[in-house]
Amino acid sequence: MKTQLELAREGVITAQMEQVARDEGKDAELIRELVALGEIVIPVNHNRPNQKVVGIGTGLRTKVNASIGTSSDIKDIELEKRKARIAEEEQADTLMELSTGGDLDLVRREVLATVNLPVGNVPLYQAFSEASRKYHNPNKLDPEYLFELIERQLEDGISFMAIHCGINRYSIERLRRQGYRYGGLVSKGGTFMVSWMEYHDRENPLYEQFDRVCELMKKYDAVLSLGNGIRAGAIHDSHDRAQMAEMITNCELAEIGREMGCQMMVEGPGHVPLDEIEGNIMLEKRMSGNAPYYVLGPLPADSGAGYDHITAAIGAANSARYGADLICYITPAEHLALPNEQDVREGIRATRLAARIGDIARDPSMREREKQVAIARRDTRWEKQMELLMFPEEARRIRRDRTPENQRTCTMCGDFCAMERGISLFARDIRGDKRGCSGCSGKK
Ligand code: SF4
Repeated sequence: MKTQLELAREGVITAQMEQVARDEGKDAELIRELVALGEIVIPVNHNRPNQKVVGIGTGLRTKVNASIGTSSDIKDIELEKRKARIAEEEQADTLMELSTGGDLDLVRREVLATVNLPVGNVPLYQAFSEASRKYHNPNKLDPEYLFELIERQLEDGISFMAIHCGINRYSIERLRRQGYRYGGLVSKGGTFMVSWMEYHDRENPLYEQFDRVCELMKKYDAVLSLGNGIRAGAIHDSHDRAQMAEMITNCELAEIGREMGCQMMVEGPGHVPLDEIEGNIMLEKRMSGNAPYYVLGPLPADSGAGYDHITAAIGAANSARYGADLICYITPAEHLALPNEQDVREGIRATRLAARIGDIARDPSMREREKQVAIARRDTRWEKQMELLMFPEEARRIRRDRTPENQRTCTMCGDFCAMERGISLFARDIRGDKRGCSGCSGKK
């Protein structure tokens, strides 16, 4: 069976491309063209035909990923399934199953059966976790087992995989030679792979046998997301030579993978100060030929633990504004613990809001909903306002808990409600539309 990318190149508009076009209000032929160029990917897996269709890439709404998964300390499959359900309920677009504790085949299969979202993972987690249990040393991993495992996970229905193909001896040498790394290494899979390479004094097998990785992904039409194993874990490390060496390699691999007909994304960048986010996105887009960019964070400060969903949301809004395509959420537990159910909920809400703020800045056609909210608020039509909000239940709960005497107002200003007074004074003057306004008409 052919991949979305191969079919698009042959001029075929697939059912998935049509679905993306409908969801995004775009022309199906435009979606096909962008899939053919590798600027849009659609995570698919032939073994999971009924999963939700999501397009990621140029001109589309910025998507949000939620990650769940057990750890070596907390191995509760039921908890992870509840977190997966919350991710779907809170409208995450994709889900990553990142377990490293317990029966890893079982948890993956259970999560895949629990949600309809496209599910991604990081095969290195299971590979090194199992090698660690079996040999008491993750470096004893047999690379052949890694390829077997990738295929087993694809067979189960995983539709995008973060695989650390771009870490190689050249990027490790850059890390060594630069003589500093304030945030150390922060990618779990990346660090395992670096450790394996150092232990065996060998090149990364995923880099050496990149074609083999692509062939496996193509067989199922899953998206290969090139993991960022040497991403910055501190703002002082952002864009250091080690990170950039890996990014250059990943962008090159994205091109090679696309040539082979494999759907490709590039991952990055970790901790990045706010003033460098635009440059980071520009570099990824220019070097990869506009491959969809899957960003982790970015976190524009290192000192916000406990509120890092907000730290990351600020970075995410900026990255969405400048063209990031898929944003991995960060929860309040980031840097501190495995997220619980409430952390998952908060993380998704903060990231969805950030993605929306970025989309509004990037694409004026996405502003119409904001206009309708503003009008309902101005006219004190509370129910209409609630219907239009991103988080109506939370808004309703707050209002219900603090009921005003005058139902047209709220308890913030009560008798001195500016909205009520303003509309009573200017109702006949301010209900028109701005002349020549293209802000929300979709014209640019
Ligand atoms: S009472 Fe104040 S905060 Fe509440 S709707 Fe009126 S102007 Fe807005």
